[in-house]
Order: sequence, then structure tokens, then C-alpha cells
Amino acid sequence: MRTIGLLGGMSWESSIEYERIINTEVRDRLGGANAADLLIRSYNFHEIERQQMAGEWEAMGALLAEDAGKLEAAGADVIVLCTNTMHKVADHIEKALTTADFIHLGDTTADAVNAAGVTTVGLLGTRYTMEQNFYRDRLTDNGLTVLVPDEPDRTAVHDIIFEELVQGVVSPASKAIYLEVVERLAARGATGIIAGCTEIELLISDQDVDMPYFPTAALHAIAAVDAALRTDAATSDQEGNSDEEQ
Ligand code: GLU
Repeated sequence: MRTIGLLGGMSWESSIEYERIINTEVRDRLGGANAADLLIRSYNFHEIERQQMAGEWEAMGALLAEDAGKLEAAGADVIVLCTNTMHKVADHIEKALTTADFIHLGDTTADAVNAAGVTTVGLLGTRYTMEQNFYRDRLTDNGLTVLVPDEPDRTAVHDIIFEELVQGVVSPASKAIYLEVVERLAARGATGIIAGCTEIELLISDQDVDMPYFPTAALHAIAAVDAALRTDAATSDQEGNSDEEQ
């Protein structure tokens, strides 16, 4: 099994979901007491949020790149950045890695949307993710038409993430607001919804939405397990061959 390095804490409320899903998935696939081989770098989100608001993206990119390199040096074969928003600086991380695979959350999400046969998808996330190009372009480059909420819905979606979800607050009133936003996206033509912030799936599940729903943290966690177990087949084949030769 290959080692997965998580860049998390953005926020830890969703990072622990990554850890839970990854470990559960490995146990389901390999059985018994099997669990993932994980390295975790978890940040103080208070400081990340401050840097986002100050527009210090280059500094954050440099920090994430440095820490991705440290995870790689410590043995990580697969690197996962546990937030949609910070994929704004994904290229810094990709450039810093020499051997480890970086699993880009935009690609993982687009693959899932395409596999479901959805072409016009609503995107919920932070203001950075909904309004800037770095994430939407990754989806449109993969053939999708992306709709984001109009104002004031975008502000409501963003504020609920930062004022509630990253602080561990899950409120029925906010869930109702999100579901109204989803209805308005559906009325504009969305036939699927991306939970494009890793905390949104703490608030909304696929049971709440009457169309294909794409929870990015869960999709990303499962993609990480796919990548971590991919070489196991080759390794066990080689082991099997060498056993036969002995
Ligand atoms: N976890 C969130 C995301 O997926 C938001 C927190 C952040 O800004 O990183 O975008």
C-alpha cells in the first residue's frame, strides 16, 4: 500500500472526514484490521483564513509546497490537499513534488460529474471557489458547464462556511438556506450539484438533494485510496511471481 500525505486542517472539521473515509475505504477493500498508511500536516485554519482575506496566496502556496515536499520526503507517495479553495495554489504543490502523485480535486470532481452523465452542474463553495477561475476552469476544461449562485445567495453560501461550518456549527436554518440556493440553481438548468467546499457535505447529504450530488471531500478521499492501492496489485503480482520462482 502506498502512503497518502494529507495537507489538511482547512478546516479540520472536514479533514477528519477525509481520514475517516480513507481508513473505512481501506478496511472495506482489504478487510480485517487494515487501515491507510497516512501522513498528516494539519494547519491552524484561523491563520489560513486570515491569509485568504489578506490575499496572501503566494505565501500560502509557498508554505503548502514546502510542506508537500516534507510529506514526500517523509514517504508520502500520494498527496491530497483537503480543500477546494486552496487548489488556487495547486500548481505550487505540483511543482514541488518529484515522485509523489498529486490528486487534483477539480479533476476528481469533474470525473465524477462526467461519469454521472451530468453536463450542467451547480457549484457551491467559498466565494474564492465560486467567483474565481482556478476551480471553475478546471471543471469547464473537463467539458462541464458550471453555474454558480447569484447574489445574495453567493454571500450566504460563503458566510455559512466561514461563520459556521469550519467552526463545527451545523444548523438546520443554514441547511434550509442551502437547499433554497440549490432549488434556484436547478431552476436555472443545473442537473447536478457540486459541494465544492469540503465542509458542505457536513451540512447537506445526497438524501437532501433531488439530483446527482457530488460531495468533494468523499470523492477526493476515495480517489486517494484508489491511488494508494493501485500499485498493490503490481506489488503482489511481483511477490507472487517471485514466490513461484523460489
Ligand atoms: N474547506 C473549504 C474548501 O473546500 C473551505 C475552507 C478553505 O478556505 O480552505 O474550499
